[in-house]
Amino acid sequence: MVASSVYMKHRYIFVVGGVMSGVGKGTSSAALGLTLKARGFSVTAVKIDPYVNVDAGTMNPVEHGEVFVTIDGDETDQDIGNYERFLDENITSTNYMTTGRVYQSVIERERRGDYHGKCVEVVPRVPEEVIDRLEKAAKKAKADFVLVEIGGTVGEYENILFLEAIRMMKLKAPDDIRTVLVSYLPVPPSIGEMKTKPTQHAVREVNRIGINPEFLICRSEVALDAPRREKLSRFCGVLPSHIITAPNARSIYEVPKLFDEQGFADSMLKSFRLKSRKVADLAVWSALVGRIDAVEKPVKIGVIGKYFSTGDFILSDAYLSVLEAIKHAAWSINHKPVIEWLNSEAYEQDPSKLKELDEYDGILVPGGFGSRGIEGKIAAIQYVREHKIPYFGICYGMQCAVIEFARTMIGLADANTTEINAKTKNPVIHLMNDQAKKLKGTGIGGTLRLGSYPCVLARESISYRSYGSNTTDERHRHRYEFNNEYRQQLADAGLVIAGTSPDDRLVEIVEVADHPFFVGVQFHPEFQSRPLRPHPLFVQFVQAASERRR
Ligand code: GLN
Repeated sequence: MVASSVYMKHRYIFVVGGVMSGVGKGTSSAALGLTLKARGFSVTAVKIDPYVNVDAGTMNPVEHGEVFVTIDGDETDQDIGNYERFLDENITSTNYMTTGRVYQSVIERERRGDYHGKCVEVVPRVPEEVIDRLEKAAKKAKADFVLVEIGGTVGEYENILFLEAIRMMKLKAPDDIRTVLVSYLPVPPSIGEMKTKPTQHAVREVNRIGINPEFLICRSEVALDAPRREKLSRFCGVLPSHIITAPNARSIYEVPKLFDEQGFADSMLKSFRLKSRKVADLAVWSALVGRIDAVEKPVKIGVIGKYFSTGDFILSDAYLSVLEAIKHAAWSINHKPVIEWLNSEAYEQDPSKLKELDEYDGILVPGGFGSRGIEGKIAAIQYVREHKIPYFGICYGMQCAVIEFARTMIGLADANTTEINAKTKNPVIHLMNDQAKKLKGTGIGGTLRLGSYPCVLARESISYRSYGSNTTDERHRHRYEFNNEYRQQLADAGLVIAGTSPDDRLVEIVEVADHPFFVGVQFHPEFQSRPLRPHPLFVQFVQAASERRR
């Protein structure tokens, strides 16, 4: 059970969504967190995903968007990435939960006999487990504020027990809990006027479970005007000063400033009867936003993947951190990132299409799984290697680069990864030792090589020069690896082994010399790129790309 003395020390701000998904709850939570942090408070953020999956790892990226990997190897939601980028802190597994994870704990408790013969009722047991987890996250981060984002939209069946957790927490310590509803206000072209009704309905939905949000964030194409603010205030029971307008921004990094100009963090503090601990300093963020607005020189990066289309629509969510990392790097060298999505399957159907790669300043192949589109990626990698177009391969992009090199430079025509062809005579990429064991177990969930591992960099390599150091720690998410049986042969043919695990058993980075930038990394550097601290490999890649443009 929840002891009030425990959660008195921490304050919780729940962020829920109304009207539709994708309105920017994650960005709103992260931005509010940042502005509170700027006022001298310690802040952490938790994401709750209402689906039954225990983690995001087993889901197709088209379904779910990117799987964001934490340093401690949790496969989480892309919003955790947003929190890390805004708060500039590593978020760990404690700060992520799903319905599956919560139920799993409750069931384990029941099996252990922890409920002492009681009937284990969904309420209060499930919300209690949620509250327990929130308190753990608060304690671990020694957080003055815990931002808790509840996935999905109010009124859905799925997230009801998480909303119930808010109600239960409020009952115990009403002064420590606030709820923010992020809602969408459409401006239907046929009407030409911003409509508040869907948001009023969303507030009613939250009311039904016994909560009235104290704050409203109004997402829309345009800013909220005075009459609509008044209307929302009256019908939703929210103070006008607690209604925050969030019109479309040029970049998400503008949102903290947008919130601050409306005194959002200050009203939030006031509602908790707290005062700012220091004058908020958002100068570095303002400078970043200024730079983003000012950059003019374009640098054009092509990203070759396959997790883009859902029905008639193109979504780049599956590669969110890659996208952000390219932007951070480009801005840091005063360039405007122009990112285009390239479908590798097109190169399989029509190899003459490869010529379009000439139009790009740099090509990136991000992580991926399975056979669809892989031959197109390999063909594209050969093209950019031979035409000296800067290339950055991440995870699958590194493995494909090794396959291409073995095929073209050593003549091993059937070189492959055993992920695609288990029987190939030349498995240059094969199953990692402990992965084979794991796969014999009960299933696939959480069985990859996950989380942060150290890597030692070879002197004289592009990577060593980029990092300016001989070691680094990077996050992983893969099952297959470079096959050491081919190490000598590949090295003799000119492939540079630029990074390995400290015991030299795992190849982590490969490079091609005599090329403006050709680097393949087994890890996911995109997860560690922050807007104010771009990742060194991305910076070098974008730098090389900008030089090609010149
Ligand atoms: N499918 C590859 C593996 O499992 C690469 C994974 C990835 O790109 N994240 O090793």
